[in-house]
Order: sequence, then C-alpha cells, then structure tokens
Amino acid sequence: MTERITIIGSGPAGWTAAIYAARANLEPLMYEGAFTEDNRLKGTLPLGQLALTTEVENYPGFPSGNLAAYMDDAIDESKRKYMAPHAGEGVSGPELMELMRQQATNFGTRIKTDDIVEVDFSSRPFKLKSLAGDEFESHAVIIATGARANYLGLESESRFKNAGVSACAVCDGAMPRYRDKPLVVIGGGDSAMEEANFLTKYASRVYIVHRRDSFRASKIMADRALANPKIDVKWNSVIEEVLGDDENGVTGVRIKNTETDSTEDLEVTGYFAAIGHTPNTDFLGGQLETNDKGYLIWPVSHRTNTSVEGVFAAGDVADDHYRQAVTAAGSGCAAALDAEKWLVAQGLD
Ligand code: NAP
Repeated sequence: MTERITIIGSGPAGWTAAIYAARANLEPLMYEGAFTEDNRLKGTLPLGQLALTTEVENYPGFPSGNLAAYMDDAIDESKRKYMAPHAGEGVSGPELMELMRQQATNFGTRIKTDDIVEVDFSSRPFKLKSLAGDEFESHAVIIATGARANYLGLESESRFKNAGVSACAVCDGAMPRYRDKPLVVIGGGDSAMEEANFLTKYASRVYIVHRRDSFRASKIMADRALANPKIDVKWNSVIEEVLGDDENGVTGVRIKNTETDSTEDLEVTGYFAAIGHTPNTDFLGGQLETNDKGYLIWPVSHRTNTSVEGVFAAGDVADDHYRQAVTAAGSGCAAALDAEKWLVAQGLD
C-alpha cells in the first residue's frame, strides 16, 4: 500500500501537520523518531526540542500566574465554564508535546516510534526506509525533523559526553554529579540564559562563558540571568579545553580571554553547550535544496513546498530565523494544507 502522506518528525510542526492532515481524512503516518542512545546523545529523541525544556512561557493559550483573581474580575461566569480547571498554570514543554501528540492521535494519526533513515525522492511515489526496517512508499512527505544542539567540536568535549558534557541542562541537570557543584554554560543566546538559570536550581555556581562582551539573548532572558546571584559571566572568553579524567569525567574547563590572551581554569563538574543548532537533514542525502547553513528552503515565498514537488517542510528544519514553537506549529499547519491541496490536484486524496 502506498501511504498518502508521511510526516517525519514529532515536534510542534510535525504534530500540527498531523492534526490538520488527519482532520482532512488523509490518514497521515507519523514517524516520531526512535528512542536510541544515538538520538539521546544528539538531542533528537521523539517530541523534539520542546520535550527537553521546562516551562513554555510564550506559547499562546497557556498563561501562567495567578489567573484566578483576574478571571473572577474579568471573565464572565458563563465563559468560565468552558475553561479547563488548570487554566492559569502554564504548560511545560513535555506536557505541551504530549498534548499535541494526543490531539493528533485523537483524529486518527498512525504513529511509528521509529526513525526514517533513508529516502528516495527521485521518482514518485517516494520511497522511504526506517531504522527498524520498514520500507514503503508515500505520495506526499512532510519533513519536520527540527534541529539539534551544536557542540564546539573539541576533542576533549566529545571525550566527556555522558560524563559531564551535555547540550541539554533540562535533560541532565538534575543528575547527582551536577548537584551543589559549579557548572559552566557556553553561549550568549536565549538557550544559554535559559540553561544557566535552570541549572542554578541545582548548582552551587554557574559560569556563562561567552565569546563577546554582550549577549545575543532577548533582554528579558539576559536580565534574568544577570540578576541571578549564582551566575557569573566570563565575557570575551572561549573554551580552550575541557579538563577531566576517566574516573571523574569533567573536572574543569580552561578558558582564554580573547582580549588579554590570558587563560584561567574553572573548576566545574558539568559543561553545557548552548551555541546554536544544526538542522536534522542527514537522512535526506542532499536531495532537497538547502541554504548555506543547511536548512531546507521553501523556493516559493509563504509556501512550504521544498525543491522536490510533493515534499513539504515545516518547523525548525526549514527555519534558521524564528525557531519558535508557535512558528513551527504554524508552518506545520501550512505544510498539511499545502500537501492536501497538492494531493487533491494529483487526484491522490
Ligand atoms: P543563538 O541565538 O544562535 O545563540 C547561539 C550563541 O552561541 C550565541 O551567543 C553565539 O555567539 C554562541 N556561539 C555560536 N557558535 C559558537 C562557537 N563556536 N563558540 C562560542 N560561542 C558560539 O542560539 P540559541 O540560544 O539556541 O537560540 C536559538 C533560537 O531559539 C533563538 O531564536 C532564541 O530566541 C530561541 N530560544 C528561545 C527561548 C525562549 O524564549 N524561552 C529559549 C531558547 C531559545 P555570538 O552571540 O557571538 O554569535
């Protein structure tokens, strides 16, 4: 049997595409990814990057704070009965993703907990292969595989992965080796701020090592980090080496001040890279056009078609600019609508 539409990737873009495709009776097949050690190390487990985060404060519809008083004052009793009892409690990343997954399931999305590892887009229907050995054809495909965290690429950094080197504070921060110990976060963007603030829950001190003298992060996130008494910023500094040994894993980092060329060893038990992302496109074998950073491109403005007719892209894998949960979800919706329209035009709906 040839699938009508296969969605690869299970972040906000993938689930939103699945919800829309399922509601259009396209019976989408979702490959949500596999729970492998390789995916864990790369940060590409099912449910995507949001599942690796804590509170999601900027996804519309999930305000946090004491809404009860506001609701008593501002929202008519007749409307309040339509609001969920937990309204006002915000939402966590993992919870939001589970809710999206459930919503897609409710409308009939079929889910495979497996990775697509190879595709052939040279002729239609497209051919796909999975890690578990599935081989099948699909008329339309939506790529929503997102992006993963980058590392600096130092040899000493890869040596201590799983032994104090991580790119996900939320996944690993609560581990005993990080409790009441000094830690270091690399980067100056929102991720670095978020990770550093999060880690102060456990750590005795968190250093942020940033290569410039100002943060790229949004003002609210930067201000929060700068006001945190447990955070100490090392400006104009780069990591020269991650220090450690086989028995203890990471024991420190050697940083160099780029203005003075002086080096300093910081004693830390954890090293968290927060230096941007790489789109998850390896399995595509270069069959879709990308920009110079490797992100898939949409050749037609405001349409989610890729360079191959019948293949659509949504979310962070095609977005090196906004990279927000809500923009990913929006483009997932657009990709499902574009795919549906294309399938109808082909008589394949
Ligand atoms: P980013 O904004 O691209 O920031 C990456 C940071 O890493 C930059 O400060 C960059 O330094 C530094 N960096 C990159 N390569 C480096 C290298 N080789 N050596 C040393 N430093 C290096 O990435 P991000 O923080 O992951 O954020 C990505 C997107 O997600 C942004 O749009 C952000 O707003 C969003 N985000 C939002 C939230 C939130 O709102 N809750 C949380 C996380 C992320 P330079 O500044 O010098 O380039």
